Amino acid sequence: MYTLIFILILFLISIFGTLLYFKTRKQKQAMLEAGSCPSCGSEKKRFRDESSGILFEVSPIESRVLKSHGCSGIVEIEYVCKSCGLKEIHNSVGNGCCSI
Ligand SMILES: [Zn+2]
Repeated sequence: MYTLIFILILFLISIFGTLLYFKTRKQKQAMLEAGSCPSCGSEKKRFRDESSGILFEVSPIESRVLKSHGCSGIVEIEYVCKSCGLKEIHNSVGNGCCSI
């Protein structure tokens, strides 16, 4: 009986852990997409060139596509933080080919 309860608790903990893992991963990806680093906290910098009035945006995050599985498939994107060297790979659903 006790073993059964123990297994059940262990099972619930593993489910909770997985959910938490995916939640934090999703949050991290959202931060990276917005141009800020979840590890060192550096954010996108904006400054205006006074002479021409052009707004510049400098992001510490560099992203590049690693693998693309077709138009509607999953795209693997690697995010690299230039200030702390963080490297993360996230999957993103492709936007399709119609826009090109
Ligand atoms: Zn960073």
